[in-house]
Parts: sequence; structure tokens; C-alpha cells
Amino acid sequence: LGGSISRALQQMSNATIIDEKVLNECLNEITRALLQADVQFKLVRDMSTNIKKIVNLEDLAAGHNKRRIIQQAVYNELCKILDPGKPAFTLKKGKPSVVMFVGLQGSGKTTTCTKYAYHHQKRGWKPALVCADTFRAGAFDQLKQNATKAKIPFYGSYTESDPMKIAVDGVETFKKENCDLIIVDTSGRHKQEAALFEEMRQVSEATKPDLVIFVMDSSIGQAAFDQAQAFRQSVAVGAVIITKMDGHAKGGGALSAVAATKSPIIFIGTGEHMDEFEVFDVKPFVSRLLGMGDLSGLVNKIQDVVPMDQQPELLQKLSEGHFTLRIMYEQFQNMLKMGPLGQVFSMLPGFSAEMMPQGREKESQAKFKRYMTMMDSMTDEGNTNPKILTESRIMRIARGSGRLVHEVMEMLEEYKRLAKIFSKMKGLKIPKKGDMSSL
Ligand code: GDP
Ligand code: MG
Repeated sequence: LGGSISRALQQMSNATIIDEKVLNECLNEITRALLQADVQFKLVRDMSTNIKKIVNLEDLAAGHNKRRIIQQAVYNELCKILDPGKPAFTLKKGKPSVVMFVGLQGSGKTTTCTKYAYHHQKRGWKPALVCADTFRAGAFDQLKQNATKAKIPFYGSYTESDPMKIAVDGVETFKKENCDLIIVDTSGRHKQEAALFEEMRQVSEATKPDLVIFVMDSSIGQAAFDQAQAFRQSVAVGAVIITKMDGHAKGGGALSAVAATKSPIIFIGTGEHMDEFEVFDVKPFVSRLLGMGDLSGLVNKIQDVVPMDQQPELLQKLSEGHFTLRIMYEQFQNMLKMGPLGQVFSMLPGFSAEMMPQGREKESQAKFKRYMTMMDSMTDEGNTNPKILTESRIMRIARGSGRLVHEVMEMLEEYKRLAKIFSKMKGLKIPKKGDMSSL
């Protein structure tokens, strides 16, 4: 997708005269690319109309930044679609809340329930899981297994076949135990059918959830809008989670889910494991959708942000598949020096928005400094190969840097996440600056 959009923009900038015809051709090309990324036809059409209204042909003809003007317009429009204009309902820690998960079978509900619970548990909540899926054999076992691994209390039954009864009993039980985040996992069936929606309506009526989260597989393509709308029509969906963003899907269906439910996306799932879960952030998501978060974009960004004398070495190492703690250290150093830290990392599809929330740069800088203090107290050996960090070594690092063990673990988690992203650069040919048509 990124390729065809940059191609479209490139062709346009090669044209000597930018008239309506050239702009239309360019927009057609972009439209095709967005449809291929599963953005709903109607959304694409509306966007295209809006862009034609926004983009002034005279500006295009006069300025040198034609590509940028259109790129920015497309980018802004997509961001607008992903922002339903109201935040998700915020739950209060310490006050019992019920969160119900809905979505088709296989969309990732059960997995995501646990990720969601685990995410909140790490932040001081007291979550609990209720399995109200009596349709699929083994549903309770799956939830039980996940919950046990994450040390989260769970409730379910092998014999009761009424999902409503289980849901109500589970919620009651955990309210008594002072859990503040009671998560109800539901069944999904194989396809959209009346019985499923009726069941969702009943479970929702019985448990009165504070928030209903619609879980959607990023790879379902153009079916996204109808599916999301169908759920929204039976229960009061208030937030969306998109799963399997680690796969090939660019996630255009996410725009449909927001449009159909008028609810924001709150998290994305990026793998099967418990911690492969990220707070959703509009900008990197759209960058990825447009192919701006791809690796060529990353190389360009590195060339913009990293000091000249360090570029060849860094790019060389990354293309060899090395992303060491030392490299991370040096990049933090660069970012601290330069200020606008987000630039490189915010483009990355896997980058966690939590690591560097917008408007909280000071805190992020403090965090980087803390990470660096910990890295300082690691030996060179550990710096280049964090795999050999045993528990006792982690404790030594914590002691040596005057930090807590969990802070060292957090830093290593962050490293692992970045290493995973950068590992994709292995084998990448490094272009000279200016060679690439940067989108
Ligand atoms: P449910 O039927 O909606 O409860 O879906 P499950 O939670 O059972 O998930 C279905 C499959 O998708 C399982 O094999 C999960 O491991 C997998 N899955 C869920 N979320 C993700 C994700 O974010 N990435 C990947 N790669 N797999 C996922
Ligand atoms: Mg399930």
C-alpha cells in the first residue's frame, strides 16, 4: 500500500501541470490502495471527496510540496475517521466495574480478555475473568488456563449451560471479593446469527456492563463494517479492540469498526502472548496503514534524526540484524539531546504509545534517563547480549543502579519490544540520503 500511494504521489509530482485531471488520477490511485487495505468503500469515497474540497489546485501548482500537501490531507482524513469524537468510557480503579467482551468466534476475545486483565493488573487494578461462553467446548478451559498463567481469578462452569446465569453469578462473586474490573468473556458462534445477538443482548441486560468492548480480527477485510454494526445494534458497544495486528493485515477494517460503532479503538493485539498488547494510538496506526511506518520510512527518519556521523554505523548494524542494548542506549542519548524524541519511534508499528505519551515528554525523558542509569550498571557482556541476564544479574543491576527489580525488567521488556521491531530491518538495503522518494 505504501508503495502504491508513494507511486501515485510521485507520478503526480512528475507531472509538470497539476490540473484537476492529475489530481483525480492521483486520488484514484490512493483510493485503490486504501481499498486493498480493507478500508470500506464508502469511507474511501467520502475521504476522496473531502480531499478534493480541501486541496487547493492553485496551492498545488505553485508550491513545491505537492506530495506533502496531499499526503497530509490523506493522513488527516484517516486520523479523523479513527477519532469518533468521544473517548471510551473511563473506568475507576477501586470501584467495581463490569466489562463485557463481544465479537465473533476466533476474533480473539478470550485471548484479549486476559491481555486486558493483565494490562490492568500490572497497573494496580484487581481484575477477574468470567467465562460466559457455553457454546464452544473447551471455552472455559481456555480461559482458565490463560487466567491461571496471569494469576487472575476466574469463574466458570463445566455443567451450567445458561450463559446469563454464569455471567450473573460470576459478576456477583467478584463484586463480593472487591474486584474492580470484572471481565465477562462471551461466546462468538461461527457466524453472525440471530441467536448470538440475542444472547449478547440478554447477557448485557443481566450483567449491566459499564463498558462493552467489541473485539475484531484485523484481517476480516471488507466484512468489518457490517460485523461491527451488527454487534452495535444488539449491545451498547463503547470501545473497540483490534487483534492480530502482527499479521499481514494493514488494518483498514479498523476504520470501519470505528465508523460503525461510533466508538474509539482502545487497544491493539500484536501477538498471541499476554503482553503483546498495546494502547492504541491513532498516528502510528495511520502511518502504518499508509505505509509510512514501513522500513524505508524508518530509514529516512533515522537519517533525519540521528546525527550524521552515527548514521552509517547504526544503519549498518540494523541491517545486519543487530539491535543491542548499547544501540538503545545511544539512541536514548540522541533523543535526550535532540528533544523531539517521538520522531523515529512513533512511526513504528509496534511502538508503544505508553512509552512516550504525547505532551508528557518530560516524564519520558526521565524514564529514558532511568533506563540509562540501569544500563550503565550492566557489564558490556550483558549489554550486547541481554539473553544472558539471569535473575541474580538483574538483581545486581537493580542494586548497582539503585533501582527496583521490576524497573530493570521493564527496561528489558522495552528493549525486547524495540529489538523485535528493528529485527525486521535485517537485510534491508540502505539507500543514500535523498535517494528515496520519502512519502
Ligand atoms: P475467541 O474465539 O474470540 O475467544 O478467540 P480466541 O481468543 O480463542 O483467539 C483465537 C485465536 O487467535 C487464538 O489462536 C489466539 O491465540 C489468536 N490470537 C488472538 N489475538 C491475537 C493477536 O493479537 N495476534 C495473533 N497472532 N494471534 C492472536
Ligand atoms: Mg473465546
